[in-house]
Amino acid sequence: MKKISLLGATGSIGIQTLDVIRAHPEEFELYAMAFGKNIDKAVPFIQEFKPELVVVQDENTKQKLSRHIDQIPILCGSGGLIEASVADPVDVVVNAVMGSIGLPATLKAIEARKVIAIANKETLVTAGHLVMEEARRHQVELLPVDSEHSAIYQSLNGEDKKDIHKLIITASGGSFRDKKREELEGVTVEDALNHPNWSMGAKITIDSASMMNKGLEVIEAHWLFNVPYDQIHVILHRESVIHSMVEYVDRSVLAQLGTPDMKVPIQYALTYPNRMELPMTKQLNLEEIATLHFEKMDMERFPCLRMAYEAGRQGGSMTTVLNAANEEAVQMFLEGKISFLEIEQLIENALEKHSRIHNPDLPAILSIDEETRKQVRFHLN
Ligand code: NDP
Ligand code: MG
Repeated sequence: MKKISLLGATGSIGIQTLDVIRAHPEEFELYAMAFGKNIDKAVPFIQEFKPELVVVQDENTKQKLSRHIDQIPILCGSGGLIEASVADPVDVVVNAVMGSIGLPATLKAIEARKVIAIANKETLVTAGHLVMEEARRHQVELLPVDSEHSAIYQSLNGEDKKDIHKLIITASGGSFRDKKREELEGVTVEDALNHPNWSMGAKITIDSASMMNKGLEVIEAHWLFNVPYDQIHVILHRESVIHSMVEYVDRSVLAQLGTPDMKVPIQYALTYPNRMELPMTKQLNLEEIATLHFEKMDMERFPCLRMAYEAGRQGGSMTTVLNAANEEAVQMFLEGKISFLEIEQLIENALEKHSRIHNPDLPAILSIDEETRKQVRFHLN
């Protein structure tokens, strides 16, 4: 029986993780769950799974929640996320919160030598060097939940990493893949939230439309697999059937395929190194799909992807700025305060203004993150 601590339980990944736990009651038990403020969504899960510990974003939510549940301790804030990650009985921490808020909990979970299933890619973008250094020091492996990274992880299994020629990350293209740049002028939040292949949280759906999601994934892959940026390629593959690939020095290419369903990589991270049945996921029917398409990525069309490669190559604090500026700009777009194209402008400005720090420690990362967010907000207010 694996005891799981689930950070971000009310989100898109969180709810699908609960589906996987529910499907295998003799294998998994929910020990702790954390969410932000969404009490209405959380209460039925708390009643169903009866975790030993619940964590919420703030004191106010804690007060409100305590009217619905008794006998389960409720903690709040970043300290609460850390408690849920390091608690003794926990075997696996699934980090599925949205944003760099997940960083301190990831670091503490590594220190406590937990198995970490990581969906929270912002953790790796904002401070990949710190996370991977801690993971090496404590000999903890991070198991990717992001579908592309799970595909690469599976395609790397048992291979010698020195034989990797390149990683090939596939991109569905997001909601605006068939629009030209000039057609993006007046797009609405609703248009952007309408992803053709995947149903996900709001922030990552906007990131997919701007192609920043792929940029964040390139940086995530760089850190997870220790592969230089020149050896990480992105290719447009609109069917989302091949979730990513690894090309080896002998030109052999290994890939992982499947229907676009996050429960597959979530469950793989929970059962690794084993596999288990996943009855609620559709089988891949290649006869029905019949044709797969691939196109070269256009960096002019998708400047967010270009900026992510540039920030990644520059290294140091640049990716912290990239991530924080993006999180804040996307939030402002969702609030109706800026247009879609202003997202990339705000990120570009933030990157231009920043003086790079070579090897920022945790306090430096947290302060750059905060400063960047302020700057991005301030610029327009
Ligand atoms: P959602 O926005 O759907 O969910 C985010 C979760 O985090 C919610 O449970 C939310 O709680 C919680 N949360 C937010 N802020 C805090 C906080 N301060 N303290 C505690 N909990 C908090 O996001 P997704 O599930 O889409 O994405 C989660 C992560 O997984 C992201 O990093 C994303 O990039 C990554 N990912 C997602 C994929 C997907 O298919 N959705 C695919 C691959 C990666 P509340 O509901 O109360 O706000
Ligand atoms: Mg992905």
